[in-house]
Amino acid sequence: MLRLKKISLTTWIFLALALGLIVGLMLHYLVPPSYVRDTIIIDGIFVLLGKGFIRLLQMLVAPLVLCSLVCGMLNMGDIKKMGKIGGRTILFYLLTTVCAIGLSLLVALMISPGEGMDVPVVRTGDMPQTTDVSVVDTLLDIIPVNPFNSLAGGNMLQVIFFSLLIGALLCQLNNKTQNITNLFNDGNELMTSMTSFVMKIAPIGVFCLMSRTFAQIGWDGFAPIIKYFCAVLLALALHFFGVYGLLFSLFARINFLSFVKRYLPVLGFAFSTATSNATIPLAIATLKKRIGISDTVSSFTIPIGATINMDGTSIMQGVAVVFISQVYNIDLSFNDYLMVIATATIATIGTAGVPSVGLVTLSMVLTSVGLPIEGIALIMGIDRLVDMARTVVNITGDAVCTTIVAKQTSLFDKTVFKTPLEEIDDEEEEY
Ligand code: ASP
Repeated sequence: MLRLKKISLTTWIFLALALGLIVGLMLHYLVPPSYVRDTIIIDGIFVLLGKGFIRLLQMLVAPLVLCSLVCGMLNMGDIKKMGKIGGRTILFYLLTTVCAIGLSLLVALMISPGEGMDVPVVRTGDMPQTTDVSVVDTLLDIIPVNPFNSLAGGNMLQVIFFSLLIGALLCQLNNKTQNITNLFNDGNELMTSMTSFVMKIAPIGVFCLMSRTFAQIGWDGFAPIIKYFCAVLLALALHFFGVYGLLFSLFARINFLSFVKRYLPVLGFAFSTATSNATIPLAIATLKKRIGISDTVSSFTIPIGATINMDGTSIMQGVAVVFISQVYNIDLSFNDYLMVIATATIATIGTAGVPSVGLVTLSMVLTSVGLPIEGIALIMGIDRLVDMARTVVNITGDAVCTTIVAKQTSLFDKTVFKTPLEEIDDEEEEY
């Protein structure tokens, strides 16, 4: 019993991840379909606890972002500094996304995932509902018509817009609005401890999500599109270790692998939930406690990143474009590829950080270069796994940017980063 207590929450989360994978595969292969397996266990208990856990996290996001962003601006007390951080953040997010799509196109053109494949060979799923979002609409949608609706509906960009405005004005009004300032500070405290509270059941949620995913996955859909799957994974890995690793050592001058080790709980979490939005509370807490980044920066960069910075999603979209063009034998010109880079950048800005939305916004990219959106059905069968992997890259991009910006604006505490993890975990098992 004493030994069990020593296991940290991070370790529990990873045990749950591995155990969920094993149990899921066992249910898929060893247990014959039955009412108990399918209805009671997979669609009953696993859905209740897994989705229930995601909903608990989603419940935290809007109030947490509102309070922490306003407090972040109040702590900074300087709108110019915020503008500087904001400018760098947006530039970083845009450039890394462009780089991610470029890389994915190169990898896909080298691997040729769709070459020699007939459309009927591929197992198709149901078509997702598609959207056609224009640039003007995407930009206009940042301004909330009614901020209460934005909060209620969890529209992150609108919540961020409104929070920044409140924070900026509270900074200017100083003592005149002390009560409101206190309200936000207290709200921030409350939301932080609610995050710690919810995280206590993370291992159960992670276990159920993993078990359900692996018990349900249609492995027979894999064989025909294995090259597509490998191309996406390769491009994701190159971007993760190559691009992020390089940017990290150039601009943050911190060992990237040590950073990844410290950030593992968030990565494991993004992998099992496939939602950037739900990882916001954990990301902010982990960056503070394990990396040493002030939430003045992360409360701003992480929610924005979770909403507009989706390098992993754009990588999937780049590979998918090449794959679909090859399956349908449609040649794309150099200009088409430039168009793909431009539209995928906008599409990922418009992609909400929840599961599978990247597939929906892919339709916008396909349409821009005249590819059939029915092509999406070819890759739907295995998208859950791709989604888990790309979400890991999505949230890592946000954390890399946050660390670089924090380092450059002296909001990074080196001593925390140097403290052994065991000490941090022992001291405070608080996520
Ligand atoms: N699941 C991704 C995320 O939450 C979005 C996507 O690509 O579908 O970041």
